[in-house]
Amino acid sequence: MRSHLLNDTTTERYRASVTEGVERVAARIATTSRPFTGVTADTLSPRVEAVDLDTPLHDTVAALDELDELYLRHAVYFHHPRYLAHLNCPIVIPAVLGEAVLSAVNSSLDTWDQSAGGTLIERRLIDWTTERVGLGPAADGVFTSGGTQSNLQALLLAREEAKTDAGSGGSRLRVLASEAGHFSVQKAVRTLGLGPDAVVVIPTDRNRRMQTVALARELDRLDEQGLVPMAVVATAGTTDFGSIDPLPGIADLCEQHGTWLHVDAAYGGGLLASRTRRHLLDGIERADSVTVDYHKSFFQPVSSSALLVRDAATLRHATYHAEYLNPRRAAQERVPNQVDKSLQTTRRFDALKLWMTLRVMGADAVGDLFDEVCALAAKGFDLIAADPRFAVVVQPQLSTLVFRYIPEAICDPTAIDRANLYARKALFASGDAVVAGTKVGERQFLKFTLLNPETSAADIAAVLDLIAGHAEQYLGENLDRAC
Ligand SMILES: *Cc1c(COP(=O)(O)O)cnc(C)c1O
Repeated sequence: MRSHLLNDTTTERYRASVTEGVERVAARIATTSRPFTGVTADTLSPRVEAVDLDTPLHDTVAALDELDELYLRHAVYFHHPRYLAHLNCPIVIPAVLGEAVLSAVNSSLDTWDQSAGGTLIERRLIDWTTERVGLGPAADGVFTSGGTQSNLQALLLAREEAKTDAGSGGSRLRVLASEAGHFSVQKAVRTLGLGPDAVVVIPTDRNRRMQTVALARELDRLDEQGLVPMAVVATAGTTDFGSIDPLPGIADLCEQHGTWLHVDAAYGGGLLASRTRRHLLDGIERADSVTVDYHKSFFQPVSSSALLVRDAATLRHATYHAEYLNPRRAAQERVPNQVDKSLQTTRRFDALKLWMTLRVMGADAVGDLFDEVCALAAKGFDLIAADPRFAVVVQPQLSTLVFRYIPEAICDPTAIDRANLYARKALFASGDAVVAGTKVGERQFLKFTLLNPETSAADIAAVLDLIAGHAEQYLGENLDRAC
């Protein structure tokens, strides 16, 4: 079956096959009227289970027909204007082109001898991003699979730096992050073996931004107790609220205490390309490390993220040399082996997607798209704030809205929680729209994450009506118990 290998003798098959696949996806995208069919796992699971993986179809068209039924028909489509749930963006076509090219050439970015020009393109994009952040001449970084991995690597570097500075054992190391920070910080701390008390949670203000007064107090307390604040994680765009921690004040405190400042800009990083909102990130240039997820606010396909550092030398904490891959002598000969900076070994050339995006569209065009959704969120806030059926939590800095259906009649708050949960589920089952849910304090809320410039204020209004309809129906059916 060597005819299935992509090589000089099979380029016609390659063209025909990929074109056929592109046709199927294009046909689905052209005809999806809803973001989701509402299919349940119970319905779909037996169909997937029924496929006999040991009996191939020996036919691309038949395999695509099958895939169309099992996946393309029922996928959750992020390009749809009523997909409002998580931090998934519609993707730009130059990046999809990049994706097709990178998987066909299949470079691996660990070593120069597996990637050549790919390595140089990735390095240019790292430099491009560190310049936009303002990290200075010694900055560097590496592409990663996502914000979770970028945050893990940042904290690994911070820990190693703290050890060299303080000679301290792991059990005294602490990481400070706000209560609205991403859970990958907790995961990273556990992965690094830092122990259950290692994360110090800093409260947020009413706009869900880290309270610098509380941060200062905790840093002083750690000093008094002989504990070592190895890193402060500031979030530039919290996952729920899009709130941006007060970076200049946090940077001052980190400087005073000699603490590594990591800025998790997985979401807010898109502002680096904004022509009108870049100032919201002021202070980010003082970070020791920064996470940027291009697959969130740069309209890139999953996966595409980077970890950036102020001082390239700190990346040595991720460096190991293997004779079979990246011997020490290669570093001495200045062979650009990206694996010396990465937690991964074999690694996708994800950078190509951003490269094609910048070369075809330009950064301003990407920033404008993100600006549009931030402006839409401001409109959405006004809509919800003016609507007596709903309560909205904070005025957005980026593009999320956290809100809750509240009936006019005074109900038991747990019944309102259930009504909101029910509305989200019913909406998902209908496929009319997809929204997220989260908790604020003890209460159940709903969330719109707006990343699609094609979503209009009218879409937001229509989805609010749908939510209110489902919630009212729930409360109507459960009236005696609920209200
Ligand atoms: C999404 C997100 C992450 C995790 O990024 P992944 O790419 O999903 O791994 C980290 N931090 C913040 C603030 C995020 O919003």
